[in-house]
Amino acid sequence: MKYIEHNLVMLSNKDDSKFGLIYESGKLHYFSNGENPHDLLDNLAISQHLYITSNDEIKDNDWCLEKTGLGYLKPFQVKKEDLNVKEFIKRCKKIIATTDKSLNSRKWVGVIEGEDTYEEILLPQIPQQFKEYFITEYNKGNIITKVLVEYIKNKISEEIHCVCGESHPMRVLTDCGCVTCGSYKTNTIDIFSNDLIINPNNTINIKPIETKIYTREEVEEIIKKVAYYAHEHTEIIHYDDYTSEKQFSDDYYLPAWIEENL
Ligand SMILES: [Zn+2]
Repeated sequence: MKYIEHNLVMLSNKDDSKFGLIYESGKLHYFSNGENPHDLLDNLAISQHLYITSNDEIKDNDWCLEKTGLGYLKPFQVKKEDLNVKEFIKRCKKIIATTDKSLNSRKWVGVIEGEDTYEEILLPQIPQQFKEYFITEYNKGNIITKVLVEYIKNKISEEIHCVCGESHPMRVLTDCGCVTCGSYKTNTIDIFSNDLIINPNNTINIKPIETKIYTREEVEEIIKKVAYYAHEHTEIIHYDDYTSEKQFSDDYYLPAWIEENL
């Protein structure tokens, strides 16, 4: 298992969702779905969806968001001819998961009566629990724009490399040894692909990116380490004025630097 960081984008799209943005207050609102016909906020809120995008290579039929100077445009499905327009494709990000149920993709299910057969399936979905977390945080002023998505590493092949690092198989496996260094010693290196984990209910696994909060003591420790590292590895910092770690931290320099910079 491993987690990969992706962008999270909120956009309004034609399909109704369960929540909307009230532009006047900047808050997200759960629609009452007619249970409360006179709910003013139901009328004010503009339906929103969440989209998680990746830098994966864009292929025919992928759903994408195009990023322009004015922000993201509504999702669209890439056609073969779009792939030739390199400048356009460069501005696009592939959607790997969403709350938007208007985005279908075709999945190959096999050959039935001699014909390739497909079924329409929804794009992988963002779990309800994460959506609720997103809305709560948004209304606290914390707008989440990056998330960690769970992948599984699958071994797809092996490559023979020479011990010198040469990786071209024809240059490694010759009668005279490696073309680069002459060695007959090789390493076998496993090649992995990262595959998105999709649960049986078509949801993906997401976790928020935690931002660590450091205490003043921890920051001081880090600064000291950096200062000593820099002293040992460069000639730029002259350290003659403070020769011991104690002097460095207790005297003028560290407190003064913290006052000025943090
Ligand atoms: Zn070699």
